[in-house]
Amino acid sequence: MLNKLSVEEAVKTILGHINVLEAEEVPLLDSLGRAAADEIRVEINVPPWDTSAVDGYALKAADTHSANPQNPLILRVVETVRAGTLAKHGITSGTATRIMTGAPLPEGADSVVKFEDTDWEYRSRANSENASREIGIERETERGENVRRAGENVPRGSQIIYKGQPVGPAEINLVASQGHTRINVIRRPVVAIVATGEELTMPENTLTRPRIFNGNSYSIAAQVVRCRGIPEILGIARDNKTSLRAKIRRGLSADMILTSGGVSKGDYDLVKNIMAELGEIVFWQVKMTPGGPFAFALLHQTGPDGVVREVPHLALTGNPTAGMVNFELLARPAILKMAGRTTWSPKTVEAIMEDRVNNKPGNIRYVWVKLDKRSDGYYARATDALIKGSLPSVAIADGLAVIPEETAQVNPGEKLTVLLLDWK
Ligand code: AMP
Ligand code: MG
Repeated sequence: MLNKLSVEEAVKTILGHINVLEAEEVPLLDSLGRAAADEIRVEINVPPWDTSAVDGYALKAADTHSANPQNPLILRVVETVRAGTLAKHGITSGTATRIMTGAPLPEGADSVVKFEDTDWEYRSRANSENASREIGIERETERGENVRRAGENVPRGSQIIYKGQPVGPAEINLVASQGHTRINVIRRPVVAIVATGEELTMPENTLTRPRIFNGNSYSIAAQVVRCRGIPEILGIARDNKTSLRAKIRRGLSADMILTSGGVSKGDYDLVKNIMAELGEIVFWQVKMTPGGPFAFALLHQTGPDGVVREVPHLALTGNPTAGMVNFELLARPAILKMAGRTTWSPKTVEAIMEDRVNNKPGNIRYVWVKLDKRSDGYYARATDALIKGSLPSVAIADGLAVIPEETAQVNPGEKLTVLLLDWK
């Protein structure tokens, strides 16, 4: 068993034991935020044919030579085409087609002149007999002007989705634009959550002295959902081996087990004992504050076929907010990797600290901060200086400021990196 890893070593070690799950085909919208399992190449040009990029008149550019407002070129309008319909007539020299944005260009037309560059407004106001039969073009145009060429938005053959790419609204549009309603993505990891402690009661029960409600299972489940995993709240294990063993074993059918509490140095912190019994502990303790007493193990599960599968078990610190820091730094990357993502680092900003913060050198310290964007950049306040109580101070936080291992103290005015949370 390794001991006291740096955060970086801990993440690397955990990820080294995490495998990407299988793919599944899902309805397009269910793929939102999940990792694509296959690359997708464009088979159909978008748009599939030349279309007008504006509302105006499709014509031959060569006709418009030296046209201007004083000397408009008068063309005969053969018809009107709107998006979704095909022109019945082609264009020959001296004629134009009134055309709407997105409508396919008529045969023979090579450019479109916008309404604003014609005398259409004057004609429609004049309400003359032949207002719609003729049009005056008031400027020269070039071939291809205001024409969206076939494949201009997305050309055939181009790769629109790569393996591991998180699917967002634009990717969903691209896939739908190819006529697909389903897509292969990596399955969502099922994460079993076990709270540990003699003092805990589920929130649906009545509270008796000296118990407290189990809040951690819910915050952890919420964090799992934020990573698009599927949380499975397995309830509370008591601080004895029989109860812990039974609960943790139930989690073996999941893709990952997260426990909360029972992983420090107390007499009744028995999670590590069960880890060693059901598998092997890879490491214990991370050089981080809060959240130092964290353990990572691989539990063994024998399948019906006799094949032994390793189930990663991440034991989070029991302290509610410290456990959340453990999750963000150590569990989140593991869940995202399992879910097929190829990047898992949170977005960061540089911010000027406005409070003094101390650190135990040798440890990275994470401080919940609220950000304020001013003209000269981001400023960060430690939220425990703004509000009473540890959970309320997490509730108002925008992110975690990172105090590097070698830094003993951060003074107001000094710059720090802030990991942004995507919780809300
Ligand atoms: P432990 O790591 O088990 O010693 O727990 C550390 C602290 O976190 C103790 O004060 C516990 O009461 C508290 N705690 C542990 N688990 C939970 C939980 N599921 N919900 C709320 N508080 C908890
Ligand atoms: Mg405990």
